[in-house]
Amino acid sequence: MKRDILDLPPRKLETQVADWRQARFRAGQIQEWIYKKDVRTFAEMTNLPKALRQRFAAEFEICRPTVARRLVSKLDGSSKFVIRLFDGRLVETVLIPSERRLTLCVSTQVGCRFGCKFCASGAGGFVRNLTAGEIVAQMMLASRAAGPAKITHVVFMGMGEPLDNLKSTVDAALTINSELGFNIGWRRITVSTVGIPGTVEELIRHAPQIGLSFSLHAPNDELRERIIPANRRFSVGSIIATARHCFRETGRLPTFEYVLIEGWNASTGHARALVELLSGIRCKVNLIPLNPASACGLSSPGSEQTLRFLSVLERGGVKATIRHSRGADIIAACGQLACPGRPVA
Ligand code: SAH
Repeated sequence: MKRDILDLPPRKLETQVADWRQARFRAGQIQEWIYKKDVRTFAEMTNLPKALRQRFAAEFEICRPTVARRLVSKLDGSSKFVIRLFDGRLVETVLIPSERRLTLCVSTQVGCRFGCKFCASGAGGFVRNLTAGEIVAQMMLASRAAGPAKITHVVFMGMGEPLDNLKSTVDAALTINSELGFNIGWRRITVSTVGIPGTVEELIRHAPQIGLSFSLHAPNDELRERIIPANRRFSVGSIIATARHCFRETGRLPTFEYVLIEGWNASTGHARALVELLSGIRCKVNLIPLNPASACGLSSPGSEQTLRFLSVLERGGVKATIRHSRGADIIAACGQLACPGRPVA
């Protein structure tokens, strides 16, 4: 079987070219053809020696997932792309325009192992990891659909847990960041994670300036375990320790995501406990009122309680913002991405 050229971040492409005793700049030329000029075959790469083109064509393909469906939100103009992979599996990716940004939210797995109570992506269990090429392809397909508008930010917040698929996440991020790839600065790329110990440290070794968001969702282990069953393996304490480590290493403020779920973690008491937990820690909190997803029967606390929660954090000296999820009418908001056809309550 041929290998997918989109799996190779710049360095690995250079190594490949060097292995074939070709000048390294050939790697840059190939990237330019693929990512800037959007060609679909090696034969079109006319500034490469013919023999090299043929060698690549014999051993590699330019993997082409396809857009099975595009849905455009009437509420806010965000687009959800349902993408068909080589094996017929589907993943979703969401393009989110806002005043000064065009953000792409990419998926890293088909399904998810973590089974967070409130998230549709894991409701059907885990199917498989995406390859780096399949993550990069989401970027290519969305860029093409965006036309002249340039994607400015990328968030690894779609289906799956990026750090449960570390190698593909790192390789895809390297291509997205590369000047000859999509040229998106590390400060505009964010990975959201449940916080698998060890993996975050590994990620920042490859991408020291990448943004990190930790899905915290509770101020203590007992509650977090009810919301995220995986907390049995990685505690609130370990996540905070990882976030502190990252801040020391990168100088970038970590974000803690906190989904507000009525009757579970959204009272002012929980807000006070969160202030206590985070006191003295350099960070931001991103409150996310729960979006309806999967048949879990949970709901968001409503805007008054959300603002009350926010003000407790602010008065306690914790930097916090509210994330207004986008694309709810096309089932594209946080936690709603799943294979199409699966019922969402
Ligand atoms: N697996 C990664 C990426 C998940 S998506 C992680 O857990 O961080 C990004 C964010 O959306 C996470 O914080 C996730 O917990 C949150 N989310 C999931 N389901 C949600 C829902 N129904 N409503 C609001 N946010 C949700």
